[in-house]
Amino acid sequence: MSETIKIAYLYEDLMNTYGDSGDVKILSFLLKEKGYDTQVDNISLGMKFNAFDYDFVFFGGGQDFEQSVVATDIQRHRQTIKDYIESDKPMLCICGGYQFLGKYYETSSGKTIKCLDVLPLHTVFKADSRMIGDTEYKTPWGTVKAFENHSGRTYFDDKTKLKPFGEMVEGYGNNPDDGQEGMRYKNTIGSYSHGPILKNENVARGIADEIIKAHKERMKESAK
Ligand code: GLN
Repeated sequence: MSETIKIAYLYEDLMNTYGDSGDVKILSFLLKEKGYDTQVDNISLGMKFNAFDYDFVFFGGGQDFEQSVVATDIQRHRQTIKDYIESDKPMLCICGGYQFLGKYYETSSGKTIKCLDVLPLHTVFKADSRMIGDTEYKTPWGTVKAFENHSGRTYFDDKTKLKPFGEMVEGYGNNPDDGQEGMRYKNTIGSYSHGPILKNENVARGIADEIIKAHKERMKESAK
């Protein structure tokens, strides 16, 4: 019987714009190729969540309305998400999910959504343009091609701690000023890329390998 890799999808029913749930499907496919079954748990409103029960945490994108609903619930999970990220465990956050890692997100209607404040970044709104269209950027895993659609502009508050996920060739990425896409911190990636992003096999295979490593460590820990 194959071992089962456990994936937590934070608010899957609310945070899944532009096919982001495809990222989890691609990972399940690649993990199956390597001989693992996957169990994907939708961690939705009101549910209990311990990030350390999982080998991978995924957080997709959402519209401003869904983000404001998630904001009413997510603070309960702040500590477990922070500890999980700091323990070097793998996590991928897309667009609205990425924005949630920072301090706050200012929406186009002028509302400020309090975010998790687990990483030094914040997201603001400026009226002149929504960042929408194809993107291409260079990452340590090679070139990534994707699609973005967001009004939030993300800025790092501590550039010594956070590294960009990529350098833009086409499109906006984090904001119209920096020429950078997304964020890397330890084993966590934040990105504005939909498409889904993991149709880029180079990144998908890299993350699948990290998930298998995390799974083996978790199994070792639980056998102690
Ligand atoms: N609502 C957020 C924004 O517009 C995130 C959008 C998304 O996740 N696609 O910036």
